[in-house]
Amino acid sequence: MPKPATANYGMTISITSKDNGMKGKFPINRFERIDTPFYYYDTALLRKTLEAIKAEAVKHKNFVVHYAVKANANAKILNIIRESGLGADCVSGGEIQAAIKAGFPSNSIVYAGVGKSDWEIELGLEKNIFCFNVERTAELQVINELARQKMKVARVAFRINPDIGAHTHANITTGLAENKFGIAMQDMEQAINTAQQLTNVSFVGLHFHIGSQITDMGDFIALCNRINELQDKLEQHHINVEHINVGGGLGIDYQHPNRVPIPDFKDYFNTYAKHLKLRDGQQVHFELGRAVVGQCGSLITKVLYVKQGTAKKFAIVDAGMTDLIRPALYHAYHKIENISSNSAPEPYDVVGPICESSDVFAKQTELNQCERGDLLAIRSAGAYGEIMASQYNCRRLPTGYTSEEMI
Ligand code: PLP
Repeated sequence: MPKPATANYGMTISITSKDNGMKGKFPINRFERIDTPFYYYDTALLRKTLEAIKAEAVKHKNFVVHYAVKANANAKILNIIRESGLGADCVSGGEIQAAIKAGFPSNSIVYAGVGKSDWEIELGLEKNIFCFNVERTAELQVINELARQKMKVARVAFRINPDIGAHTHANITTGLAENKFGIAMQDMEQAINTAQQLTNVSFVGLHFHIGSQITDMGDFIALCNRINELQDKLEQHHINVEHINVGGGLGIDYQHPNRVPIPDFKDYFNTYAKHLKLRDGQQVHFELGRAVVGQCGSLITKVLYVKQGTAKKFAIVDAGMTDLIRPALYHAYHKIENISSNSAPEPYDVVGPICESSDVFAKQTELNQCERGDLLAIRSAGAYGEIMASQYNCRRLPTGYTSEEMI
């Protein structure tokens, strides 16, 4: 008799717990009452991660950390991050609204974006955000004009493209000369001259972001060296900025979410402290996304069918690329666990129900033997997971639940 399992969203399943209600860190007895697929956030881990960030950042009195809202804008997650005292890094008007709704002080908000619409700039001006990270002189003129109309002075930093390749996936490197982001280094001084002539912008900082999922500190050292060169150049023209924003990019260990649940923030902040040559009173701002929320989230999905192919087995699950697009978009690896089963592992291709052949979460990954109705946890999905979900194929968006809601 097969276990009941919904072939669609909307109906809950009923399977018997094989443990005392917990499977590792997962409250599986609670999960059995929730429609799948859904995101599960371990808020104890999130809080520990935030404590680790704060503990290391405060050792450097001029370091200021913002959370990159784009990684996960779930309101419950944003609230916890805001409570910890981090600022917000936003890339759209919608993110500014989400950050303000979650209670982030508007003077802790930085706003970057390669194409900011007028209403988004106006929102930033109305809210008196900390800084606009500006990507071209034409944008500077627009901000100046909109600020003039509101009789305000906008604080601006220039996003400089440092022409540094991070050792990460081509689709998430952003600091190369051929990327669309930022002002070329050779155009920096001209942009600063323009800013200094405008009455309604105040040039206060330099901004950089070289890419994401960076685990080689050498990439950040290369960025520090480039910033040092640029600062020396500016000094020759008697230009000194209030702050340097180095962006985000610190990676997480997707292979070992249990062994390395919290990234090495000590090494990360020490790298900047050691290699960045700061001027008196200068602050360093960080915009961390993935490293804050990546490991605390899992996508919980249910096995609908196990298919025996000619040479391999498929676990067909009810989550698809619409719920977590990273594997389809970047061939990203996520560790997957069968949290319903203690049977011996065997290899499966884990695939979703979407009408796209790229709707594959993993190929030949070892899972405890799967049966219809088993729950799988797709790990390290807290960043760029729920927020990137879509309704392609007219699917429902996944809900995000916190561990606190499971008690
Ligand atoms: N800052 C900027 C400008 C970004 O574009 C991004 C991500 O793309 C981030 C910060 C956050 O990056 P991460 O999640 O890798 O820390």
